[in-house]
Amino acid sequence: MSAPVLELKNVAKTYRVKQGLFGKPKPLKAVNDVSLKLERGEVLGLVGESGCGKSTMAKILLGLEAPTEGQVLVDGDAIGGQDRLALAKRIQPIFQDPYSSLNPRKTIADIVSLPLRVHSIGDANSREKAVRETLELVGLPARVLNTYPSQMSGGQRQRVAIARALIMRPEIVICDEPTSALDVSVQSQILNLLNDLREEFGLTYLFISHDLAVVEHLATRVAVMYLGRIVEEANVEELFATPRHPYSRALLNSVLTPDPSQGVPDTQLGAAYPNPIAPPSGCHFHPRCPFAQDHCKISTPRTVPTNSGHVECHLQDPKSPMYRENFSV
Ligand code: SF4
Repeated sequence: MSAPVLELKNVAKTYRVKQGLFGKPKPLKAVNDVSLKLERGEVLGLVGESGCGKSTMAKILLGLEAPTEGQVLVDGDAIGGQDRLALAKRIQPIFQDPYSSLNPRKTIADIVSLPLRVHSIGDANSREKAVRETLELVGLPARVLNTYPSQMSGGQRQRVAIARALIMRPEIVICDEPTSALDVSVQSQILNLLNDLREEFGLTYLFISHDLAVVEHLATRVAVMYLGRIVEEANVEELFATPRHPYSRALLNSVLTPDPSQGVPDTQLGAAYPNPIAPPSGCHFHPRCPFAQDHCKISTPRTVPTNSGHVECHLQDPKSPMYRENFSV
């Protein structure tokens, strides 16, 4: 059997953070013992609130940060052993904000051809041909070649960012909240485009989002992140039908309904998101969990397998005194 196109093995990233002028630096575990596998053509949605570690994961995968522990493998090769340029041929990013991720002083032709120039691929003619073809792929006409980002709409700029990511024909694309800065009407166009491109080129996406509705549209599997840990992973149908972790349930409850009269739904998360420098004892989610018991404050839940993935909650662990058979949140 071939190796997964992307694999994370027990990846952790710890920063030393100083609190106050005279405070001693304290460890902040932004990513804590994360293991994931992505097969070719798969879309893994990575969801969680701001500050849960999603963006640190993206930086590690793009080679912008080195993990403090663990390994990241692309097609079985550890990326720690590859230089940034070699890695950029295989993994490309699409960022959240198409306003700040495109250089306002460069033309669209310059922006999209930049990866080819950095890697010294082709001459001026072949690069222009590649840019025209890639712009066509993302639904932009050739006449935008000599325009600037400021002359384009948000949706068009994000298409330019997608073209820049795809011109190298990468295997993996890290999509970091790629639609959250766009109008709702444009979001679905960009999601459909990403889906079409994935099918055409067999791309593998890690799709980072705080918005479960967006993830449901595109992902084949979902990993739910809380305080740097994956607390539940499952295929998309199972996670949306029968979430097993109380935090997954709370995120699902917070998805806005199409009926505005129902207002913003209650997430049931009473307490604020904890400070990652001083995470709660036992299960890190216990101060916000409607099912928490005293045992949760002193005991860290194990990772237990489920039908299509895994979960970290005492209620789902047959070896825990809190286990409840067939419990659903
Ligand atoms: Fe809630 Fe306890 Fe499960 Fe943590 S282990 S999610 S606190 S029930």
